[in-house]
Amino acid sequence: MSEKEKINILGVDVSAKTMDETVDELMGYLGDGSTHTVYTPNSEIIYMAYKDEEFKNILNSADVKSADGIGVVYASKILRKPLTERVAGYDLMHAFFKKAKDRGVRVFLFGSKPTVAENAGKMLSDMYEGLEICGTRNGYFKPEETDEIVNMINASNPDVVLVCLGAPKQEKWIYENKDKIKKGIVMGLGGSLDTLTGVTQRAPESWQKLGLEWAYRLVREPRRIGRMMALPRFGLTVFFKGKRYGKK
Ligand code: UDP
Repeated sequence: MSEKEKINILGVDVSAKTMDETVDELMGYLGDGSTHTVYTPNSEIIYMAYKDEEFKNILNSADVKSADGIGVVYASKILRKPLTERVAGYDLMHAFFKKAKDRGVRVFLFGSKPTVAENAGKMLSDMYEGLEICGTRNGYFKPEETDEIVNMINASNPDVVLVCLGAPKQEKWIYENKDKIKKGIVMGLGGSLDTLTGVTQRAPESWQKLGLEWAYRLVREPRRIGRMMALPRFGLTVFFKGKRYGKK
């Protein structure tokens, strides 16, 4: 990635590409026979990486790290390298499938509670004619079942694998297993399958436009308050310490 195409936020190299440019990058990877990794870090995840060197290296190892969430866009403004727009994981999934469906893309869905991935699969194949769901697996497993899951993924011959285990579990899982996955674009997409199937609701667009998606989420899922305390800490850390990372 060239300097123009990324911004270093507290040590994490976030892509500065727009949604369209990110989709084009993924389209370029599609079908090239190798494995690519995609993470969509938000403020919480970047702050987690700031506190945990090993996790930071895991994030930075991915081919694509797009800016999920308004907090990351604000951080880029504080650092005077403003991102054009946020590239949220859920939106990226839809924008990518809209284009990739014409190439007959094969998709494996891994994550969320039993039946959610199957339902999400039916919805995606209805929404995007040409997209084929080549396998599903719920996200609850014992560590010793990991190889079996990797074998399932490889046997399904996917072009795209969505790993929806929540952060930081999915990023770590992808990092530990990417070399065993023979090919495909492996994307860590958090609660996207839940959002797609209506298990959880995303903020209305008006809230999203106001940059208040996090507040909506907090109202719906108050148990996230502990995690969300990372948001003000993230903002303050970027404000007071962010510039020194930008120079790296
Ligand atoms: N999940 C999973 N396996 C686990 C823990 C969580 O498949 O061991 C799923 C969970 O069912 C949910 C998603 O991971 O669908 C986490 O969603 P969340 O919105 O919390 O994602 P985050 O905000 O952490 O990216």
